[in-house]
Amino acid sequence: MNTCASSLLPFSLRPFRRLAWTSNGARQIWEPRIARLRQSERDAWLLAVARGIAPGTLLTVRRPDAAALALKAEAHSLGWHAIAAAATGDAVTLAVGTGDTASSIAHAVRVGDFDAVARDIGVADCCREADRERRAAGIRDGMWNAAERTENRSLEGQRITLHGPPAHNHMLSRAFGCNLSERLPCAFDCPNVGRVVKATADVENEVDPEAAAWRQEMLGWSMSWSALHGIAEVRTPVAKVIYATDATATRFDIHYVGTSVPSEGAIGLTFPLNEPRHRRAGDSRQFHAGMEHVVQLKVPPPWHHLDNEFLTRADMRKGHDELLRRVLPLLEVNAASIADIGCGNALFLKNLLATRSSLIPYGIDICGERIAHAREVVSMHAAHFSECDALDILNTAIGGRSFDVALVFAGIIQESSAKARKRLLRWLQAQARVTIIYAYPTSGYPSMKQMTEAWSFHGTALDDEIAMGSRASVVKKRREAK
Ligand SMILES: [Zn+2]
Repeated sequence: MNTCASSLLPFSLRPFRRLAWTSNGARQIWEPRIARLRQSERDAWLLAVARGIAPGTLLTVRRPDAAALALKAEAHSLGWHAIAAAATGDAVTLAVGTGDTASSIAHAVRVGDFDAVARDIGVADCCREADRERRAAGIRDGMWNAAERTENRSLEGQRITLHGPPAHNHMLSRAFGCNLSERLPCAFDCPNVGRVVKATADVENEVDPEAAAWRQEMLGWSMSWSALHGIAEVRTPVAKVIYATDATATRFDIHYVGTSVPSEGAIGLTFPLNEPRHRRAGDSRQFHAGMEHVVQLKVPPPWHHLDNEFLTRADMRKGHDELLRRVLPLLEVNAASIADIGCGNALFLKNLLATRSSLIPYGIDICGERIAHAREVVSMHAAHFSECDALDILNTAIGGRSFDVALVFAGIIQESSAKARKRLLRWLQAQARVTIIYAYPTSGYPSMKQMTEAWSFHGTALDDEIAMGSRASVVKKRREAK
């Protein structure tokens, strides 16, 4: 049962307790209320003992208030015994009880017999048994054990989540030192403690109904307890409390999921804080209205640029834009037929058509997949695209056709054998009225002038000055009149 006992470290911190309010607003409202709850709680316990709900109790008050409390006890025919509280100089603890109970409690406290104290103040057998087990295991803080023993709890690793009614929330005593249960019960849902708490709450409601209502409100808040390396932290919506606990090597968490949220509580996204008052973007009406009219962004498929041997879409756009700028002024004829040798997926032709819609495009490429894409891209002229090796152009469907313009990627000519190159250039000479040869600077070829000279293809080098620059380079050759 004692999961945390297996995680205990061989040290313990000196006792301490620190409270931090989550805001001034929370403090202004709840600090005086908690002071009054401590008062109403003492009065309720005293009356509960007088009515036989419990045989005795321990009440701690400021030294100046001790006499008044003793008089109250006597007024209810109860015995009392003062025990100096060593840790706090200003506080005095009174053992109060029927008959000899007060002196019995005082004696048990002095000799450190915690089990006898528990018996004398009426702690149920189940809770005393749990107490003994816990002490035997070397654990002084019963929070985790009580949560582990709770019937209606869910355990996930070292986190326990509790969903009981407010009466099952026993973290309040750790946070604010006020609770109607004097000891942590054996389980958050211990029925014996539940009965005493209910009876004492009824008494408190008689003594101070306003305070009783505040307590009910607080018990309904979500709270969390966590412990790591000997420091426990109780978080509530209005304050956080840290205190010394058993030193464990790993973290233990308990979440009590409450039913109410104080309006002055802290705002936050983590348990147990309030969710932000301003709705998140995803909660807004505008967001939902927008979601009903989603515009599907057209993201081009990666083959758009990969087919054309560009590394990125941006590279391709840059290359095509520049080439377009260079080629457009060379297209002198309306409704010209244009052959793109090594057309890739014909995106460049598509761009060209967007400006000169009267063009009649044709294209060949050595890759069947690119041709399939080209037929998609320029679907109106799908039949004009065929898979073939540019160097075998004579043997293809467009081999015997004449064109106003032939567009050739320089790489195709540059990388072919001398024989194949001669054949292709001869075809261009014969079938195209104007031939435009282009290269992109990123292709890594020599300048257009150098290449065309090497091929003995003497056209108008339109771009000597930019051949190695950042722009596409183009050479144009007009077929000589026969
Ligand atoms: Zn119990």
